[in-house]
Amino acid sequence: MDAKKKQQAFIEVARFFTVSDAHILRALLEVEDIEVSILDEQFSSLTPVDSVISGGIKLLILNSDIDKAEPIIQNYYDNLKVESGHVCPECQSLDVNRDYMGQVKMFVYAVLGAIFGTGFNRKTPEYMKCNSCGYKW
Ligand SMILES: [Zn+2]
Repeated sequence: MDAKKKQQAFIEVARFFTVSDAHILRALLEVEDIEVSILDEQFSSLTPVDSVISGGIKLLILNSDIDKAEPIIQNYYDNLKVESGHVCPECQSLDVNRDYMGQVKMFVYAVLGAIFGTGFNRKTPEYMKCNSCGYKW
């Protein structure tokens, strides 16, 4: 692959489990003249399970746009965290992530809840983790 072609390669910068989330970020990037490609969108229109199995909806940009896109993507996630209360209650850091096992538990409870009724939804396991101080909630 020559240098020019390499410059134009698409790289994955974000994954989503809902079409609307993917298109919000797409719109924010396209406003800044960043070319966006979205992959595996069709899976999410089936069931959430299909979306999870396929690894989610992938948002790709040209790697030559990465420097321009990075602050927009970072800002998008920071706003999401503030809006959804994803701020560490201990140290107020925005550097928090969904705890992977917590996410799996949430998903299993949601599926069990959907199959057997709402009884399983009562249990809400901790699923957020602060990368700054390690606090989980
Ligand atoms: Zn913290």
